[in-house]
Parts: sequence; structure tokens; C-alpha cells
Amino acid sequence: MNFIDSHCHLHDPRIISDLSGIAGRARTADIQYMVSCATMENNFELTAQLSKDFSSILPCFGIHPWFLDSLSDQWKERLEQYLLSYPSGIGETGLDFTDKMADRDLQMAVFEHHLRLAMELERPINIHIRNAWDVFIHILKKMGKLKVPGLIHSYSGSADMIPMFESYGLYISFSGSVTNPKAKKVVTALKRVSKERFVLETDAPDIYPYLPEPQASQLNEPENLPAIAQIASRRIGMEFEEFSRHAYDNSLNLFHPLLQGKKDN
Ligand SMILES: [Zn+2]
Repeated sequence: MNFIDSHCHLHDPRIISDLSGIAGRARTADIQYMVSCATMENNFELTAQLSKDFSSILPCFGIHPWFLDSLSDQWKERLEQYLLSYPSGIGETGLDFTDKMADRDLQMAVFEHHLRLAMELERPINIHIRNAWDVFIHILKKMGKLKVPGLIHSYSGSADMIPMFESYGLYISFSGSVTNPKAKKVVTALKRVSKERFVLETDAPDIYPYLPEPQASQLNEPENLPAIAQIASRRIGMEFEEFSRHAYDNSLNLFHPLLQGKKDN
């Protein structure tokens, strides 16, 4: 089986020193590609460098809604410069209203800018939405269907919204949260997604999955993706091979614009 980790953060200071080990273990686990998302301007360059050093790493550039305090005056120019310099996706970007003190207007303005770039440059966009579904839907309705597909990462919304998101050109990505034995909503959501529209991710080094033999460090990494697929497929009653093949094919469809110039592993 082949796998693609559709959303992770390999620049993260908690894991960067072990990246050769992480990439090697991912290769052993048949992870063909890892989509590594920057989160703010000061990790754009590192994310770009990783994609040059490792043929299996595909970069995304964006500003995460948690890190809007880090925005420089030139963030738009910098973002566009990186997007134009590398075969890359956009993200991590989105809306997170979990913190009641968050500046919602700024989050919306920054996210809408990322969405416009995704339309203009025809790049896949890697979207984070937490506790902001109504506003997200409002923005989607205003902007219209994506020109090339994007994804909602580590989906936490209701199953009922999924057909509408699919109609806007969005894929739905599932992380280790689907392995939580208490997680019912996310399993119901996974059952609802079209076979052609679900993908898998680790969000490494975060969202450590519920594994039979967990690592003491609890630092997640892409090699855990097949175990996530194993548990997720069992929970929705689909054969592991069929489930994994769909997830892989769907990720390839999503991220093929990033594969230019990448040699096969
Ligand atoms: Zn993330």
C-alpha cells in the first residue's frame, strides 16, 4: 500500500533534528509524500529548504490563524514570492474561534486573502477550521467554488455539512482524532464523505493517534499514517486495502500540482 500524509509540520522545532530519521521511517512505512505546511513567515524558508532536501516533502505556505501576531508588513508579498518560487500548496490557513479573544476580523481577512490566492494561482489549499463553521460557509458562498480542489484538515465539523463542502471543491481530511475510541462524530463524518473525497493526515508532530503500542514521546510522525488508516477503515467497515487506495488516489488528485519536478521515490 502507498500513502500520502496530506497535512503535517515537518519544520516543527520539536522534531526537526530527527528529520532524516522521520523521513526514513516514513519511507519504510510506504509514505510516498508528506505535505508539510508552514504556519508563519519565519518558517517559510525552512519549509522550502525541506522540500529541496527531501524528494518526498511537498511544501505549503501560509499563515495559521493562531499566529497572526507574527504578521509582518510584507506578509502578502512574502507569501506570494514563496508560492511563485516553488511548486507548492497554500496553508496552513483558516479560522479558529476557539479562543474567544481571537481577532475574528483579522482571521477572516487573512484567510480570504489565502483563498483568493488559491483561486488566482490555482493551487490546493490546506484549511484549518475550528468552531467557525458558520463564518467559513459564509466566506465559501461569497467566494464560490474553488478552481482546483483544497482540503479541510483534521475535520471536526458535522457529517451533514460534508456534501455542501464537497460541492465547493473541498476534500475532507482525517487525522489521528479518528482513532480516539470516544470519537463518534468524526467517525460519522468519515462514513458520510464520498469515496472520492477523503484523504488522511497525521498533523505531525501533533494529534498523536491512539495506537496499540504508543511511543512514550507522544510526538506524532508520518510513519503512523498506515496505523491511522487501519483503525479508521475498521471503524467504518471498509477493507483496509480499499480504504488506503482511495485515500492515496484522492491525495494524488489533490496535490498533483505540487509534484512537478519531483522524482519518484
Ligand atoms: Zn496543522
